[in-house]
Amino acid sequence: MKRTKARENSSTRPMTLATRASRTRWPEEFTEAEHNSAMLQQVREALGRVADGTFGRCIVDGGPIEERRLEAVPWTPYCLKHEQRLEVAASTRTPTL
Ligand SMILES: [Zn+2]
Repeated sequence: MKRTKARENSSTRPMTLATRASRTRWPEEFTEAEHNSAMLQQVREALGRVADGTFGRCIVDGGPIEERRLEAVPWTPYCLKHEQRLEVAASTRTPTL
């Protein structure tokens, strides 16, 4: 696991995830997002994770999702490692489980 700049937010605790989520810029054009049902579904699931207090954690291994990733794609359910793994899996259409 890469730990680049991981110490930058050394005071960040799991309890602050919801606070961070509230500061995150969610898609303002929700009507536009609705045209992309896959993305909308991810956004809905992300909002559910905010409610559950698990926002910001990879749904595969529960590890923290990179800050930069959350800023760019706040609804992502995967850390970079698993996102890339899934992209490879999707491109080859071979189940990895
Ligand atoms: Zn992961």
